[in-house]
Amino acid sequence: MKPANPGSRRQRIILYYAMAVALPGILLGYMAYRGIRNDQALREKESLRKLEANSQTFFSEIDSSLVKFMNEQTADPMFSDSRHADTSILIFFVKDINGLKTLITHHLLYLPSELLTVKQKQSGHAASMKEGQKLEFTERKFPEALKFYQDKVLRTTSKVEKMQALVASARLYNKMNQTDQAKSLYYEIRKNYQDGLLNGEIPTGLMASLEILKINHERGEKDEMRNNSRQYLELLLHPPVEYGNNQFDMFYQSFREIGQEQDKAIDSLITVIDTLRIKTDYLIKILKGTDLIQASGNNELKGNRNEVYVTPYNSPELSAVCLSWENSNGQQMGIIVDFPAYMKSVSEKLIQKTDPDSSISLKIEDNDGKIVFSRIINEGAIYLSFPFPDNLPKWKLLLSEYRPGFFPSLFRAGSGIYLLIFILIILFMILGFAFTIYTLNVELRLNKLKSEFISNVSHELKSPLTSIRMMTEMLHNNRVKTDERKSAYYSAMLEESEHLSHLIDNILDFSRMDEDRKKYNFVDLDLNELIGKFIESIRERLAESGFDIRYNHPDQTPLIKADKDAILQVIYNLVDNAIKFSGTSREIDIDLVPKTDELQFCVKDYGIGIPAKDVEKIFDRFYRSEQPQLLGIRGSGIGLTIVKKITEAHNGHVTIESCPGKGSLFCVHLPLQGS
Ligand code: ADP
Repeated sequence: MKPANPGSRRQRIILYYAMAVALPGILLGYMAYRGIRNDQALREKESLRKLEANSQTFFSEIDSSLVKFMNEQTADPMFSDSRHADTSILIFFVKDINGLKTLITHHLLYLPSELLTVKQKQSGHAASMKEGQKLEFTERKFPEALKFYQDKVLRTTSKVEKMQALVASARLYNKMNQTDQAKSLYYEIRKNYQDGLLNGEIPTGLMASLEILKINHERGEKDEMRNNSRQYLELLLHPPVEYGNNQFDMFYQSFREIGQEQDKAIDSLITVIDTLRIKTDYLIKILKGTDLIQASGNNELKGNRNEVYVTPYNSPELSAVCLSWENSNGQQMGIIVDFPAYMKSVSEKLIQKTDPDSSISLKIEDNDGKIVFSRIINEGAIYLSFPFPDNLPKWKLLLSEYRPGFFPSLFRAGSGIYLLIFILIILFMILGFAFTIYTLNVELRLNKLKSEFISNVSHELKSPLTSIRMMTEMLHNNRVKTDERKSAYYSAMLEESEHLSHLIDNILDFSRMDEDRKKYNFVDLDLNELIGKFIESIRERLAESGFDIRYNHPDQTPLIKADKDAILQVIYNLVDNAIKFSGTSREIDIDLVPKTDELQFCVKDYGIGIPAKDVEKIFDRFYRSEQPQLLGIRGSGIGLTIVKKITEAHNGHVTIESCPGKGSLFCVHLPLQGS
């Protein structure tokens, strides 16, 4: 027989697997994958549409919020007071028909001279101070000069004159090195004349503050100086009175020259002032130019219905929008809004209107790519970028839709079903593969066992045949002389042929059982008689090899319905095994025990026994334990399979108890008739 080539067989099975499972699986998987991709593309399209609509809502919300903002600002009776105007308003101006620009309110650090409200030097009162100045500057009679100014303070009714006299007194104290008095006088001036302008141009509060700082510096009053510095910078940042660029520069420069202790608050105030200064310069440039109104008037990208025109200002210095409109007198009004500050204050509200159910993540990016505002619902999502419309600064709105996690989306209509199919296919393919490998292994193991079986059986058949042939030859050639020897040869030949016959019966039975072709002929059977006869037939042969078989049975045993030949095969196989696996022991016990509902037939040996791991397997076809193979005990591995099948065909069962090295007990339980 041609031996099976396990390698090629394995390849064939894997090929079948590939054709039957893997290929259709891959095909279906690919289709599911395409389905998922299509579905994803559709969802992405839908999401894009949604986000686009969101961005549109967001931008139009900005427009209407700007108009609302403009209405609020102009309706406020306090609007002309810069302290009450919204902090995001940089300039609120009006331009009359002659083109004259006037500032209503602003948040500038300083103003160009043409826009200063107080333009002329208030020199009217200088005359009344002349005498004091003569005493102070020409004759250098400080005490007299001081007395003159102090008298002035007491006598004058003019606020400006009083302020001038106080400042002059403080100055004289300083000159006379009476810094205590000078300082307290400057404190008083700073407190009472913060919004005063000395000689119509010098901001009195700032001037007094600077003088105090100088005294602090000279006298080494560090803590006081630190506090005063902060106040000073606050005054520069929020000037209570308008003054020009030169004044600002002078005060700012003088402050920097005095030198400061390290202080975080002071540093950050300086940074704010520096930025605002750049903005102020830029805004003054805009104010001086003509482009401001033109840009607003001709703005084709007009904001909307209320005829408010929105114009963007985009530059590294400033990101702003100018809202402009015409009032009832035909004057052009305009508000320049600090866009970042404005967006900071309204973003939350705008987003609420754009996306009331909070399903999108949102970021606002300025023209430098810096995130100005963000509301993130799910981190790591992909953002779509929408540029702000042309009437606003060149910012970007980044939107990303919230996507449910893997499992929720798996059960969502559409992609979920594809994904499910996809996963099932992969699962089936893996299972199919595992199953193929498993069956492949089982098949190969069975193949190996079959090959072993064939070689074992061939041997089993060959050895009795050889001895029969040898003995026949010797008899035929008259080489056996005595009658006694001849008789021994004949009985040996009979025994060998009986063994052969049993072996062939076994093989035939096995093949019939394997194909379910085995027929049984049930008759009333006296098992006791059958066992007795069987033992008699083998006793002599066993006695020769020293075996002692003990048969225990009651006098009377009930008959059973059974197939005589089949049951004889069972007895033969069990006793044959007991003999084969007895090792050095020469004792075998056979017991026939009638119970109420069954008849037990047991064969017990005291031989090599069976390891626990094999007890379950020895009834499997072709299975043989390792030890008998190692000991060279021949066998086919089908004896017990036949025992089990025949017993089961009689509605019975087989039990086994075994201990390696001590022996085994096999019991066949056959049901009694009628039970
Ligand atoms: P075999 O032809 O090998 O005896 P069987 O199907 O009768 O085939 O038995 C299967 C295996 O069970 C044996 O190879 C042996 O390992 C084990 N076996 C069966 N009977 C006994 C026994 N009485 N003692 C020890 N091992 C046994």
